[in-house]
Amino acid sequence: MRTQRQVVDYSLQKRAVLRELLAGRVGTYDVCDASPYLKNAARFHGEPTDERCPICRSENLIHVHYIYGDELKQSAGQARTLAELPVLAMTLREFQVFVVEVCLGCDWNHLVEQFLLGRDGLTGGTEGGPDQDVVGGGTAAAAAPATRRRREAQR
Ligand SMILES: [Zn+2]
Repeated sequence: MRTQRQVVDYSLQKRAVLRELLAGRVGTYDVCDASPYLKNAARFHGEPTDERCPICRSENLIHVHYIYGDELKQSAGQARTLAELPVLAMTLREFQVFVVEVCLGCDWNHLVEQFLLGRDGLTGGTEGGPDQDVVGGGTAAAAAPATRRRREAQR
């Protein structure tokens, strides 16, 4: 996503948890503890992935995108589909996204990454002047539906 910034990757922490599990220092009950809310969010707003669950290996992981920020008001803390994020990113100045992977088979869940989205990211990294910003923003918005169609065709 064009306005994506300040990405924090949690794959190292995830690997550490899986190592602990393999070594028997933590049990599956400790790490497979997805709440009913998280599982509902995965069912209704989640993004299916091609990645197998590292614990049960029988289901593919689902990514849930949670959004946070003052501008969201009562929507803060809610899950959103991936397709909704570019629209929000063009509407709001800045909001935080937390991506959580969930397995509906064994309740494994872990934070994947977090990042910022929003219009403030458009003015940040470009030195080309305001005109290029406007054109670039329009292109990004127009490209979003095509990406969505491609994803639906894959299912
Ligand atoms: Zn699983």
